Amino acid sequence: GFNAIAIDGPAGAGKSTVAKMLSERIGYTYIDSGALFRAITLKVIKLGIDINDIERIIFHARNSDIDFSNNKIYLDGANVSEKIRDNIINTTVSYIAMIPEIRDIVVEIQRKIASNKNVVVDGRDIGTTVFPNAFIKFFLTASVEERALRRYNELTDKKKHTLEEIKKQIIERDFIDANREASPLRQAEDAILIDTTGKSIDEVVSEMLYYVFM
Ligand code: C5P
Repeated sequence: GFNAIAIDGPAGAGKSTVAKMLSERIGYTYIDSGALFRAITLKVIKLGIDINDIERIIFHARNSDIDFSNNKIYLDGANVSEKIRDNIINTTVSYIAMIPEIRDIVVEIQRKIASNKNVVVDGRDIGTTVFPNAFIKFFLTASVEERALRRYNELTDKKKHTLEEIKKQIIERDFIDANREASPLRQAEDAILIDTTGKSIDEVVSEMLYYVFM
């Protein structure tokens, strides 16, 4: 069969950067599961759907065409890779990701991609729910200050926000992600914990490669 490597952790722990690099080093396909929730959230915002209108959100999510190609994410044929990083998505996405039917849609997309290739997947519930049989599971953390700074630095609309505001937002987002009922943010029992505080991307990737080839 095909292998999955799971990388979970809170917002800004460095998951997507190292997941992408690790996938390139070992020739696996990278799946950014957060981008799938973000694309659905973008659609909800674009259509002006009330975030309490669960039925409409599910309907439109089911009727969306979401796809990865060359590490870019496409929503109904349009490349939305940059749009999904807007801060409005950061503050809305956790509410969309609470909905069990939305999680099912996202799980299905991931399992379909992984059905015929080796994958490195980053998210919150990959090692616990999406790929419980993943051949290696990592759980990445970092201090909240460092995570806030990383997220602040990758904002596309930086001038509109302060670091303090971003820090509050990620604390709130992690809280919602860790306390929802449907597959919350959790370290799998068999996951390898890596604290990335003060570590360079190369150091973290080297550490992971060590475990992959051990
Ligand atoms: O990783 P990223 O910050 O892009 O994820 C955005 C949001 O999507 C998370 O805060 C979380 O609410 C949701 N998510 C999730 N499960 C995943 C990946 C992301 O619930 N596997």
